[in-house]
Amino acid sequence: MAYQKLKEELIAYSKEIGIDKIGFASVEPFAEFKSRLEEQQALGYASGFEKGTNQERTEPERLMPGAESIIAIALAYPTRIKNDPKSVKGDRRGFFARASWGTDYHIVLKEKLDKLASFLQKKVPGLQFSSMVDTGELSDRAVAERAGIGFSGSNTLIISPEYGSYMYLGEMITNIPFPADQPLDEGCGTCTKCLDACPTGALVEPGRLNAQQCLAFLTQTKGFMPDDHRDKLGNYIYGYETCQVVCPYNKGVDFHNHEEFEPDPDLVKPRLVDLLAVSNREFKEKFGKMAGSWRGKKPLQRNAILALAHYKEASAIDTLIELMIDDPRPVIRGTAAWAIGKIGEERGFRAIEQAMQREKDLEVMEEMEKGLQFESISTN
Ligand code: SF4
Repeated sequence: MAYQKLKEELIAYSKEIGIDKIGFASVEPFAEFKSRLEEQQALGYASGFEKGTNQERTEPERLMPGAESIIAIALAYPTRIKNDPKSVKGDRRGFFARASWGTDYHIVLKEKLDKLASFLQKKVPGLQFSSMVDTGELSDRAVAERAGIGFSGSNTLIISPEYGSYMYLGEMITNIPFPADQPLDEGCGTCTKCLDACPTGALVEPGRLNAQQCLAFLTQTKGFMPDDHRDKLGNYIYGYETCQVVCPYNKGVDFHNHEEFEPDPDLVKPRLVDLLAVSNREFKEKFGKMAGSWRGKKPLQRNAILALAHYKEASAIDTLIELMIDDPRPVIRGTAAWAIGKIGEERGFRAIEQAMQREKDLEVMEEMEKGLQFESISTN
């Protein structure tokens, strides 16, 4: 009973410090999740960003001997921008997915978890705990599902009836035997909207994602974007969230509970041409606090070039030609060449031909050839 009372006190405190949802889970091994992981790996569907062995990821006691419970937390994030700047011809803007708006959620949630730990430390001498947000071994989603934060949707995200899937998740393993909460008795029913809307078929069946096909994952890779995915990103330069946008549970959801997550319109919808010219220092100063900057500026700039190609933004041709000729990074030179071809201006094609005379990198040359192929397509 003492632990029930402490649980209630902690729940009350969590509200005081702005945690939107809190739940409690047992530390039983996540057996079902483990077999899912093994299947995903066997099928080649994992992203490769995961941390730890399958045992560590599914057996909390391996991560913290003496573990007795897991506290799961969720913070809702906004979905709409006040004074939303428009992306218009001649002044095109990219788009960071909503999970990257404001200050990096890893930092914000870690602070909340630290506060919960300090609160418990005062009440429980000998408290042991281990906190993680996204990059830890445990699956935030498996924990949140077990703790009753939300149910696992067909889009593989945790969905709560109040906040939809627009929530950040984190957790803390403790050595306190808190009574566990029950998972939610809710689900997607007959809905298949996210599967139908996914442009790459990455949601291969309800609740199963092939990360290698997922545009959100691909925006974070550092090499060339696979050819048949380039046209599908629209103006997303970090992350992708159509499977959330179409979800009925997210209809009208827009919580502005945390100042830290308020989007700066010029950062979350940056001018594409400006992003291509940003120095390392400027990039760090401007974008360094956003979750979307974690892979550095190259993937974002590659995606910005693809967004300009998507818009067929002829006013960006000079910038793209400069990048194709001078940028030291082959991925940027090659993607620029492809984009120039896609935009389809005569002087763009001639610039590709000239640049090809000097290019030494085979992959870049291949992209140049692909760029030139657009000319034959447009004249056929
Ligand atoms: Fe479930 Fe429909 Fe939402 Fe997909 S779009 S997660 S099927 S409710």
